[in-house]
Order: sequence, then C-alpha cells, then structure tokens
Amino acid sequence: MPDVNNFQFCDEIIDQFEQVCKKPILNKSKEYYVGVDLGTACVVVAVLDENLRPVAGRYQYADVVRDGMVVDYFGAVNIIRRMKQELEEELGVEELLYAAAAIPPGTDTLDGGAVKNVVQGAGFELSNLLDESTAANAVLHINNGAVVDIGGGTTGISIFKDGKVVYIADEPTGGTHFSLVVSGAMHIPFEEAELYKRDPANHRELLPVLKPVIEKVASIINNHIEGYDVDQIVLCGGTCCLTGIEDIIEKRTGIPTFKPKNPMFATPLGIALNCKQEDMF
Ligand code: ATP
Repeated sequence: MPDVNNFQFCDEIIDQFEQVCKKPILNKSKEYYVGVDLGTACVVVAVLDENLRPVAGRYQYADVVRDGMVVDYFGAVNIIRRMKQELEEELGVEELLYAAAAIPPGTDTLDGGAVKNVVQGAGFELSNLLDESTAANAVLHINNGAVVDIGGGTTGISIFKDGKVVYIADEPTGGTHFSLVVSGAMHIPFEEAELYKRDPANHRELLPVLKPVIEKVASIINNHIEGYDVDQIVLCGGTCCLTGIEDIIEKRTGIPTFKPKNPMFATPLGIALNCKQEDMF
C-alpha cells in the first residue's frame, strides 16, 4: 500500500525551497543540482546542494509557454539566463553548470527540443530531460495510484504501478481556465482574477464558482484512469493550492484524493533531484 497520507518528504523540501527563495543558504557545496521548470504560468529554477537539499531558487509568473509548448523562445531564454546569473551571484559560485528540465507527458516529440534549446540557450548544460510526472513523483513518492498535476495551462495525469509510470496523458485545462472563470464571474480583467484566485483568503468564496471547472478536470481524470486499477489520486501543481479542490475531485471520481500541504513546486524540485553532473548529449 502506498504512503497515502504521508507527504513528509514533499512538505519538508517544498517548505525549505520557499525559505531559500527568500534567503539562500551559502554552504559552499561542492556540487549543485539545478531543476528548470518552464511552466505555462510560472517559470521556476530550483538549486539543490550536494546533499540534495534546497539552497536557492527563483520563480516568476511569465507567459512564455502555452498548453505546455514554448511560444516565446527568447522570452524564456532571457528569464532563465537572468535567474541563473542571479542565483550564481547569490550563492557566490562561478557557474551553475548542469541543469535538468522536464516536459509535459506526451509532448516529447513536439517540444522536447524547444525546452532543451531554452535551457542550453540560457547557458546550462542539459543533464536530463524527463517527463513532469516522473519529476513530481521524485518528491511525492507514490508507488501506486494516479498523480494529477494541475498546472497553469495543462493537467498531467500519470498512473503509477509499483513505482513505475504505466500511463501518461496531458490535457489542455488548468489554472488559466480557472482564472478565466473568475474573471467572467466577477467582471474583472484576467490579471486581476488571477491574483484574486491565488489568495487563499478568497478560496472559500470562489469554490462554488469554480466547481464546474473542477468537475470538468475530474471528468478528464475519470476518462484517463478508466480501465486502470487506481485506488488513490495524488494532486500536485499550483492549481491544487485551491482549498477544497481535493474534495470535489474525490466526490466526482469516487477515489480517495490527497494533496501535500503545498502542492506547488513538487515538479521543479523533482526535476532538480534528477539533475546529474554530466551533459546528456
Ligand atoms: P503547466 O504545468 O500547465 O505548464 P505551470 O508549471 O506554470 O503550468 P504551476 O506553476 O504548477 O503551473 O501552477 C500555476 C497555476 O497555479 C496558475 O494557474 C496559478 O494561478 C495557480 N496557483 C498558484 N498558486 C495558487 C493558489 N494559492 N491558489 C490557487 N491557484 C494557484
């Protein structure tokens, strides 16, 4: 039986990551492991030390990827290059050389090249390119069940059996659609709706408005897990920060649904955990 309610590793590493984003740890590590997550809504760079503990990080909301595809190549390169330089200065290291990156499930033939070019264009040697679900599970540690990563533009669904991915899919529905619903319901611009939605103080008020779009996500999950023996759903991705989303998904799918304390940053940290000290090419 998987460790259903035990997200201790995930909760700790995400908590540490949030702290080092504000105050880096200067411990003169011999090696650094870097994860680059180019998201639809958010670009994240996570740096781990030789003991695989977070020491520094940056994240920025940006519009360089849509539905999991890089649409603004130069914008993406510039953001990552700037973050790389700032992190090097912050940590007092000459160069953060190797980085790993990830792509949404099923987009490897289309977009693996673009992500690779962005990471290399920003000055890193790419040491690993993995799918987002495998990355997230390096932090979540699920052996059996479905990991559902609801990000900004997409929902990634991966089914794990005995610790191995047996099915992956990615659907173009995510937090951006949630913000569009809020924008329409409240008659406010998208950007304002996005910020309003991210504030936990507004979640209780927003949940009834967002229920139909959450149910849509749940029916997407149902379609993909049909025929598989899934006895738990584990949520990650920024959109799952929404208070109560797990209850609506559990009710609609009929499958026990769990999420870590903070579902944001599981993927970038899992990417960094999969970084190696060698060029993959
Ligand atoms: P994708 O995986 O689709 O490429 P991404 O990697 O940018 O996108 P994440 O960083 O996992 O996605 O999540 C970003 C989404 O999470 C955005 O839609 C954002 O509005 C939403 N989000 C972030 N924090 C919160 C919060 N506190 N409450 C509700 N939604 C949130």
